[in-house]
Formats: sequence, C-alpha cells, structure tokens
Amino acid sequence: MQTHNLGYPRIGAQRELKKACEQYWSGKISYEQLEQTGKNIRLENWKIQKQAGIDIIPCNDFSFYDQVLDMTLTTGAIPERYADIAMRPDLYFAMARGCQEHGIDITAMEMTKWFDTNYHYLVPEFLKNQQFTLNSNKIFNEFAEAKALGINAKPVIIGPVSYLLLGKEKEANFDKIDLVENLLPVYLQILSKLGTQGAEYIQFDEPFLTMALNHKEKTAYEFVYRQIRKKFPDLKFIIATYFGGLQDNLALAVNLPADVLHIDLVRDAGQLENVLKAIPAHLRLSLGIVDGRNIWKNDFQKSLNFIQQAAEALGHERLLLAPSCSLLHTPCDLNLEKSLDAEIRNWLAFARQKIDELVTLKAIATGSTEEKIVSRLQENTRAVESRKTSVRIHNPAVQRRVQSIDQHYSRRKSAFAIRKAEQQRILKLPLFPATTIGSFPQTAEVRSWRAKFKKGLITAAEYDSLLKEETKRVIEWQEQIGLDVLVHGEFERNDMVEYFGERLEGFTFTTNGWVQSYGSRCVKPPVIFGDVHRSRAMTVYWSEYAQSLTTKLVKGMLTGPVTILQWSFVRDDQPRAQTCRQIALAIRDEVADLENAGIKVIQIDEPAIREGLPLRKTDWDAYLHWAVECFRIAASVVKDSTQIHTHMCYSEFNDIIKHIAAMDADVITIECSRSQMELLDAFAAFHYPNDIGPGVYDIHSPRVPSKDEMVALLEKAQAVIPAEQLWVNPDCGLKTRHWPETERALKAMIEAVTAMRAGV
Ligand code: GLN
Ligand code: ZN
Repeated sequence: MQTHNLGYPRIGAQRELKKACEQYWSGKISYEQLEQTGKNIRLENWKIQKQAGIDIIPCNDFSFYDQVLDMTLTTGAIPERYADIAMRPDLYFAMARGCQEHGIDITAMEMTKWFDTNYHYLVPEFLKNQQFTLNSNKIFNEFAEAKALGINAKPVIIGPVSYLLLGKEKEANFDKIDLVENLLPVYLQILSKLGTQGAEYIQFDEPFLTMALNHKEKTAYEFVYRQIRKKFPDLKFIIATYFGGLQDNLALAVNLPADVLHIDLVRDAGQLENVLKAIPAHLRLSLGIVDGRNIWKNDFQKSLNFIQQAAEALGHERLLLAPSCSLLHTPCDLNLEKSLDAEIRNWLAFARQKIDELVTLKAIATGSTEEKIVSRLQENTRAVESRKTSVRIHNPAVQRRVQSIDQHYSRRKSAFAIRKAEQQRILKLPLFPATTIGSFPQTAEVRSWRAKFKKGLITAAEYDSLLKEETKRVIEWQEQIGLDVLVHGEFERNDMVEYFGERLEGFTFTTNGWVQSYGSRCVKPPVIFGDVHRSRAMTVYWSEYAQSLTTKLVKGMLTGPVTILQWSFVRDDQPRAQTCRQIALAIRDEVADLENAGIKVIQIDEPAIREGLPLRKTDWDAYLHWAVECFRIAASVVKDSTQIHTHMCYSEFNDIIKHIAAMDADVITIECSRSQMELLDAFAAFHYPNDIGPGVYDIHSPRVPSKDEMVALLEKAQAVIPAEQLWVNPDCGLKTRHWPETERALKAMIEAVTAMRAGV
C-alpha cells in the first residue's frame, strides 16, 4: 500500500505567491525574484510531504497562475493575438491578464470556473486546424528540481482528453475532441522526455471521466491511452478522476490501460463497490478518502472501513491512499491559526494535516502497533465523537424549527398579481423605477476606518459616526440625482457573506485559511461548523438609520441563504440542504425584523444560485428544488405590500428559468449589459411574470456609459419585456468603483430613465 498526493496548494502558507506576482506585475520585483519565490514554495511543499512520509509526491502541481494555462503554453496552443509578444517572458501573464502597454492592447484569455469549485482556470482556445508543439520546459524543470532534492516526483499533467474538453472552439464547424490526434504527439514527447529523466509515475488528471461523455469522447479516451501505453510499455501512469463518481463511465475507466485508477470516494463513496467488481487484475486502485475540498478532519474509522473493503478484494499491494482531489482547494496549514477556538480547531485539517492523515491511515491499515500511531487513532476517534455530540454544533431548537418547516414557510400570502397591485398602492413607484444593487464605493478611506476600528485605533462610537456620515452623504446624493429606491451603501460590510457569518451562530473564521480563486486572487471562506441561527438583528440598525434620513424608499439589503452556503466551507455531517434551511430561517427572521422596522423594500441577493448547480445535469432538479425553497423560506414571511427583490450576477438563465421564476421574487435584478440584453430572452420566452431590472451598465469597468447607450439597451429590453415590468439599475453593486465615475454613470442612467418615461 502506498500514499500519494494529487497536488499541494501553491499559494504558499503566507500567500507568498500572491504577493510576489502582484509585486512583479507592478514592476517592484524582477522576473528572477518572482521565479525564486516560486522555487521556494515548491521546495517547501516537497519538504513538507517528504517529511510527512508520503510515498509518491507530486510535481508540476505548482503554477504561477493556472495549471490549464501552463498546459496551453506547454502544448503551444497560443492564440494568434499574442503573436507580437510571443518571445517575451511575460507572454504567460499576458495570456492570463491581457496586456495594455506601449500601444499594445490584447485581451486576456477567458476565465471560467474549474468544475464546481471556486477555482477559475483560463479556457484554452482551439482552431479547426489547431497545431500543437512542445513549447515549454516547465514540467521537466520542476521534475529535475525535485530530483535534485532526492525526490522522484510524480509529474501531474492534465490528461489530453480533459485538456481538450476544457477548451473552447474558436471557429465554427468542428469538434474540439477531433484535435486529439494533433495533440497526442506533444504528450508522447513529454512522456519520452520524462522517461529519460527517470520519472517512474505520471499522473494524468481526467476529471471528465466523472461527467457525462458522448461516444466520440469515450473513443478518444480509449485511443489516447492505448497509444500512450503502446509507446511506453513500462511507464507507470495514474489516471486521476475526481469531483464525482464514474457512474456510466465505469467500464471505460477501468479498462483504460493505466497502472493506477484514482477515484473520489468523498463525492461518491457508493462507487467503491462497483469499481471493485469491475477492476481488471493489472490495475491498482487509488482511494480518494481524504476530502480535498473541505477542511474537516478525516474520520479514520470510516476511511479504514473503505480501505479494508478494498483490501479484501484487491490485497494491500494494489492499493494507494490519496486525497479525493488536489489539495489546491484547501488552505495550507492549520498550525498557522493562532486564534481559533480550541474545540473547533480539533475538528479541522488543512492541506498539511491532510497529508499526515494519509500517512497515519496507511500505518494503521497496514497494522502498525507503534504507540504514536495508536494514539493518533484514539485522538481521531475522540475528535470525531466530539463533533457528533458537541453542544457547540448541535442545537435542538434549531433542528426542531427546521423540522417544523411546512408549505406556509415558503409561500407568499398572495399571488404576484395581487401583490403587485398592493405594492403599487403603497409604494407608488413610477414607470421604469430606478435603483442600484446595494453597495457604493468602498473607498480606501472607508476601508481604513474599518482597519483602524479593528486595531482599536478608533472607538466603536467613532467608527459608527464615520459610517453614519458616509451613509447620510449617499442617501442625500441619491435623493438629489433622482433615484426612486435608495440603498444605504453597505459601508459597514467587509464582504457580503463574511458580514452575515460574523453575526450568525454556527460560523467561525480563520485568519489564514486562504484558498486560490484565480491567479493571485485568494478567498478566505467562513467555516460553518454548527447549527446556524440568528440571535440578534444583523442589518436593521443601518437600514433603519438610512430610512430615517429620507421620505423616499430605502431597500433593506441581505445576502441569501444559498449564496452564504455556497461561499463558505460547509459542514459535512449533514446534507447541504439542511444547512441551507437553517440559514434560510435566520435570514427570514431578519426579513421580518426589517419589515417591522418599517422597511418596505427588501433585497435578498442570490448571485451564487447558478454556481451551486451539480456537475451532472441529472442532479440539477434536486438541487434547484431545495435552493429555491430556501430562498422562498427567507422571503415569504412578509406582507403582500412588502416588495422582495433578488439580485443575480454572472448568470445564464435559459436552462433554469423555470426555477428562477419559482423563486417568485417581486423584482429580480440581473447582470445584463455585457450580453446586450440577450439574457432577457430567456425571461421573455418564458413569459416571466414578475418585475425585472436588467443591468444597463457594466460595473466591472471604470468606463462611464452614455445616456444614449443605456436608452438603446432599455429599448432592447422593452422590445421583449413589457415596460410595466421593467426596472432600471446597474449590473451589480458599485463597491469596487470610484466615486467620480459612479456619479457620472448614475446621473446618465437617470437621464436615460427620464428619456424612456417621456418616450412611452
Ligand atoms: N448587494 C451586493 C452589492 O451591491 C451584491 C453583490 C453581488 O451581487 N455580488 O455589493
Ligand atoms: Zn451582482
């Protein structure tokens, strides 16, 4: 039995990579200095894994930006537009981030989510006659680097089929999978070089084996791996599947001529039995038993049961133990958390601890009687037991309340048409009501107040009065330019999820639990460890204050349950739906309090609904069912006359419009301007009955849109959606913008509204 790792986090325990990249981009350090930082991180990661006792240690899991972009550079699939800078050392970063200097203006490659994680990769671009040539020595250099340390590392390479499937056809009339024959020679070249260098194992990441595949794609799998085997009969290769079970690809996967097949037993424990039945005698099995996507300590007893089941069928020699997927998706090291509560800390494991878990599991499974190992098992059993029983986690009142949820919780009192009339009577909004999505610029000054307050440099009262002044200023400004529904500006919030997590029971926060989101960007998700409930109002103070300053309507501003769930580390001891219902009840209580405080319009943001979609379409309905239900639980407590808004950005709605409609928000605002209102087609085709605010300008750019542009967009909108249903607003919140452009853009937006009203 061996242990191996699929990949280690590469941002560095102190986010060294982020800092070095950003310094290099701003010209503060040289390319050599940047490379040195990368090298230090790799050496440190290898040292950690070697000292822990991992048998097969990965290399080429490092990246300065993204492993898919590395592969694109390696295969030479460099889009035409970079031809002028092809010789420069920063071609790589130009592909990642675009390049705008010395009269050159080239866009970046498109970025998209890595399966259902919060990591984003750069999408390869393919032409019909795409040629591939070996174009980088990164893989070989990193292998040699590890070898110099005495480690015969396992290069991790995105498998050829998954690499193609991750890409996008940039020309019509061809299928990217047909490029497999052009691509294969580069892979053969890589393997041949690695063989010469002395590589023993190679890991091909083929996550698409857990997804629905068509006949051509399946054939491509058989083709490439047979060719690879034919050319390299002695090279040992691992095919790594993760983020789901093999399901209908089981026979295909186990019959590929690999040496090791890796399966994800965290996402699909049930597949073990079927794999054990189907696995041919030459194939070894890697059990992905330590969760690479979450931060909980492994339950050793549970893992040992899997190992035993597999060992009975295959024998110890044919087994490897591994994390379910690369540890890229977990923070580096729990030891760096100095202020975590001791009881909670005892339930957690970050990448470094997960590595130790694998080594310990192997020792126990192979019968070690070493005292150290025996006591680790006992400690683990105690930690798992304490999680099962701790009163910090289990709150009977919350559980009873979730159990008591019935249809009344998720149903507004009346149907939309009746609500709309009632709201019209009370709110008296004009045609094309103008509003914004919530936040106003979080200037350096606003952020500095929060930092000073956190450091104790200003008192709570001082912080409060600074925020009040800023809020008052934006309320007055919004009144003056003529917005119809105002917002308080969200100056008191650091982040739309963290702010609520900090005010809810059942959440905790790390100080260093960073995970790479893309490039140098990292996120530090809150940890939901226990039953969630709200013990006091979270936002009423600011909404009430803002409303007291004006006779116009001020929108209450909340983050929805699905988004809070989606952007946190979530408990694994109960279904996600259950955790989400608890959050929904907490938000519901806040909605009720806002209404009681006289707030007549309440927005519940749900930008993450779409990204929560399961990888396989067959699982979509089940997810959407509880996700929509949770939104409705949060929203349905109010009177007919209280208007509920929701907001969603970066979404496509075509295939989920029925569920979006089932959310039954009185108003939905969506990001729309970059698609030139195309996103509205889904609503139009569905005859979506409720009100819609399609974003009329892109808030991701400092560019100020003209009145005419926005009028043109609104006319497009009006052509497909009746005017009585339309609201006018920007694409999203304005917190990342500066004031000068915000002022000009919103004034132009109001001019556009005035023109529209005059025109109807
Ligand atoms: N209300 C939030 C804001 O305006 C919404 C942010 C989002 O959708 N991502 O900042
Ligand atoms: Zn948004």
